[in-house]
Amino acid sequence: MKSIADYHNHTFLCGHAIGEPSEYVDYALKIGLKEIGFSDHAPLVCHDDPTITMSLEQLPRYHKMIEDVQKKYQGQDIKIRLGIEADFVPGFEEKTKTILDGYAYDYVIGSVHFIGDFAFDNPAQKERLKTNDIDKVYRDYHELLRQSAQSGLFDIMAHVDLVKKFGDRPIGDLTDDIKATADVFKKTGVVIEINSSGLRKPVGEIYPSLSVLKIYCETGVPITFGSDSHAPDEVGFKFEQALGLARQAGYREYVLFEKRQISEKVKL
Ligand SMILES: [Zn+2]
Ligand SMILES: [Zn+2]
Repeated sequence: MKSIADYHNHTFLCGHAIGEPSEYVDYALKIGLKEIGFSDHAPLVCHDDPTITMSLEQLPRYHKMIEDVQKKYQGQDIKIRLGIEADFVPGFEEKTKTILDGYAYDYVIGSVHFIGDFAFDNPAQKERLKTNDIDKVYRDYHELLRQSAQSGLFDIMAHVDLVKKFGDRPIGDLTDDIKATADVFKKTGVVIEINSSGLRKPVGEIYPSLSVLKIYCETGVPITFGSDSHAPDEVGFKFEQALGLARQAGYREYVLFEKRQISEKVKL
């Protein structure tokens, strides 16, 4: 695991994760990761929900926490990055930009968790996926992914087939739609992550699936790795499997970030 960096880790500030940042770093050291990056849920721009994200008032505390942990582990055999995961909500781009411009992040992860008022990855709303037009849900989701990349707000797009979370699969062939999305990512310079948290969800699969990942690889979109940990012992979750999937899709390297630029390409 020495060569791998986990860029998707949460903190208790989001209201649905547990553990101190130092416990996450300790676990990363224990399993021998190269880097760990924190990317807690940024304040929601459309409404407040303390069970989903930190509040705007808590944001300085988040940065202080990560700075403290960076100091604490200085000189140790691991690099600690400051990132954040922000939702893409159309119409709120300016407000999102103001929040993200306020701090010197190493990277910003963009997420699509909402299609209009449909929080499709929320278990409380999953019945809405039992529609006879699931393909439209997928297409709407891909459209929002493209808009996210075009917004220029994000460096890395999270879990790019999250709509499969509860096992609802498209009926038709959506290859063209995924290709169009990958093309936009390539053009806008956005990277995707291989997110192992899907293995902990009903779908029981890494985001994205092999077939989807192959398209991104063929298009030349770089990757990062993320466990989407919400507890210290989820850091680096099933990364051997994530690494295997990346290679199987054709990837030979992944990228690291510093100050919102790709700083290094690491061989897989
Ligand atoms: Zn979360
Ligand atoms: Zn996350």
